[in-house]
Amino acid sequence: MNTYWPDYCQNFRCKADKCVHTCCAGWVVGIDEDSLARFNKEPDIACKIEDGCFVLRDDGRCPFLRDDNLCEMIIKHGENFLCDICKEHPRFYNEFEDHTEAGIGLVCEEACRLALTKDEPFTLVSEDGSKMELPDYVKAVFDTSKTLSEKLNEISGGRRADSKLRAEIFDGMEVMDPKWTTLLGKIIAEPVSAEEENKALADNEKELTNFAAYLLYRYKGAGRFASEAAYLLADLVIKGCGVQDVARVFSCEVEYSDINIDEALETFG
Ligand code: SF4
Repeated sequence: MNTYWPDYCQNFRCKADKCVHTCCAGWVVGIDEDSLARFNKEPDIACKIEDGCFVLRDDGRCPFLRDDNLCEMIIKHGENFLCDICKEHPRFYNEFEDHTEAGIGLVCEEACRLALTKDEPFTLVSEDGSKMELPDYVKAVFDTSKTLSEKLNEISGGRRADSKLRAEIFDGMEVMDPKWTTLLGKIIAEPVSAEEENKALADNEKELTNFAAYLLYRYKGAGRFASEAAYLLADLVIKGCGVQDVARVFSCEVEYSDINIDEALETFG
């Protein structure tokens, strides 16, 4: 069964010590059983595991993340020694009957850069070089004959929350980082008009189109969700954020909380 990836994933390399927002801090890493058995044979690793998870340092960093942001476990034992979650992050997989659609999550700053700065629509390529056509629900957002706001209007079935309500809905979800609440609070305190949103969409068309396409691909055509998320990013850009920065934070807050992503997909279903 073939696994297809957006073409930009071929260029993905973890930035390791060059990463500003490392994924090796702030997350509880659950260790798979095979890796746990392997780790338990190494006393210097086993002593940093509790209840099947790495015991994070007081500052939230993984106990194996050195001060120079390199992974002690990779240095000592090689990349293949890592547990599944560390080996796979930030990759995701959607299984279909006859193929798998994979990708890299925007929670990673390098994935964000690759996915959002692409000039042309991404294509889907498998490891053996075969190609798959983009699903129609992804193609819809790359149609160059329409403005991005027209396309968001179409994929959302004409439904669009106003900026304050939208920010309040996301603000009501589980919060990972209080800075997210502060950002949403700026929209709630001073809402953005539909005209301002449309201008921000036009001014940041490439990155926001790629962002909507990523969500449509990952969430199998969840048009209303992709549309509201793109508008939310436009609102945050108006409040002074950079598109890539806020896409990464959105991914972290909404996509990488099981509770939040379920709620968002249901609310904007
Ligand atoms: S966020 Fe991405 S680039 Fe940074 S350490 Fe994690 S996988 Fe590597």
